[in-house]
Amino acid sequence: MKITVVGTGYVGLVSGTCLAEVGNDVLCLDVDPEKIRILEEGGIPIYEPGLQDMVRRNVAAGRLHFTTDIEKAVQHGTVQFIAVGTPPDEDGSADLQYVLGAARNIGRLMTDYKVVVDKSTVPVGTGAKVHAAIADELQKRGVNTPYSVVSNPEFLKEGAAVEDFMRPDRIVVGAEDEQAIHLMRALYAPFQRNHERLIVTDIKSAELTKYAANAMLATRISFMNELANLAEVLGADIEMVRQGIGSDPRIGYHFLYPGCGYGGSCFPKDVKALIKTAQDDADISLKVLTAVEEANDAQKHVLTGKIKSRFGDLKGKHFALWGLAFKPNTDDMREAPSRELIADLFAAGATVSAYDPVAMHETQRIFGDESRLKYADSPMGALEGADALVIVTEWKEFRSPDFEAIKATLKNPVIFDGRNLYDPKFVRNSGIDYFAIGR
Ligand code: NAD
Repeated sequence: MKITVVGTGYVGLVSGTCLAEVGNDVLCLDVDPEKIRILEEGGIPIYEPGLQDMVRRNVAAGRLHFTTDIEKAVQHGTVQFIAVGTPPDEDGSADLQYVLGAARNIGRLMTDYKVVVDKSTVPVGTGAKVHAAIADELQKRGVNTPYSVVSNPEFLKEGAAVEDFMRPDRIVVGAEDEQAIHLMRALYAPFQRNHERLIVTDIKSAELTKYAANAMLATRISFMNELANLAEVLGADIEMVRQGIGSDPRIGYHFLYPGCGYGGSCFPKDVKALIKTAQDDADISLKVLTAVEEANDAQKHVLTGKIKSRFGDLKGKHFALWGLAFKPNTDDMREAPSRELIADLFAAGATVSAYDPVAMHETQRIFGDESRLKYADSPMGALEGADALVIVTEWKEFRSPDFEAIKATLKNPVIFDGRNLYDPKFVRNSGIDYFAIGR
């Protein structure tokens, strides 16, 4: 099948590459010439495990191409995936300018039947707006080329995106005409060979499903974070509580980890956007989600509170930071809790040495030549001259460190662990002052 993917970010590049992997002829379009240059030179502009090899393999096989040429991209695919960003607007609603811009480009240039598939996370009602934008462009040209609009929200997780796309739990397709449903079934058949995972819904339900999924996951995290804060005051251990409730199959173990707040490009913005849609379009105040967001905003400062209670005045203090990305296996720094922590430490007069296996480059891009932030080339390197260690991202390589070496290198043997990586007894027995979340 001939497929165009508009946007080569985390979702677009992974989707396009995986669709090429199963034999499709895929052209990926981006308006950012730098991204396309990197891709054309055999690199990838993001970090995502397994992606680089898959891109190279499919480029070499002639199934995957990249372009900045909009007209060529519109002509190429019968299926046109829109996978551009939908960042939060100032009022928290999803900014649809990139999605509608892409839809207009398709309407302006298409000359034959297209299935326009929205993969970006968009509020309920966007399918109709995409439809109207294309209709408007066709009308301006005085042509009546047929097209279908489909909502196909993406559920991949950064850090495991290739695996998630190749072996999805479910594929949600919101479509309202048979031709489009037929095409989408054919397109996704290779990804669900052992059993059917494709759920066909109306367009609005598909759009809402994506927000509902992220909102539920964010709710579980904020719920656990609040209970962790309570457990700490009451003298209970949230990790024991987590195991105690996770064993109930109605609850399950997933997404029950307390920590220093959720971040990333999806949960914060999608929770905000859903609250806003409910308010503006339905006059409904989503009380649970409003609290989820409030709890998360507060949780991003929990480590700062612990550091201040332990050290008092932070002026002139220097902290080692392990982990910058919002979660392991990605270089994505969008809404990462580390950013709030670093800002808090700077505001209190402290400085930071950070180490992250892949996100330091992106952090440097964000913070520029900020002199209060130094980068170390190893976890232990970050500890030199530091008053304490703060852990923000649960990278595997932080899970079993040499505590004796940590103690010998830090000025004070203190660890603030925002991801509950260690057994508190073990660490404390090593002579380290250990502060975790909810235990
Ligand atoms: P991203 O910011 O990494 O990538 C978006 C890309 O689109 C950028 O490269 C940008 O240059 C490009 N772009 C913008 N306008 C364009 C246009 N008119 N034509 C061509 N290219 C254009 O974003 P992302 O993280 O891949 O997310 C994309 C969408 O998918 C968002 O709506 C997001 O909420 C959703 N989503 C993201 C994830 C995730 O884990 N990142 C998971 C599921 C869904």
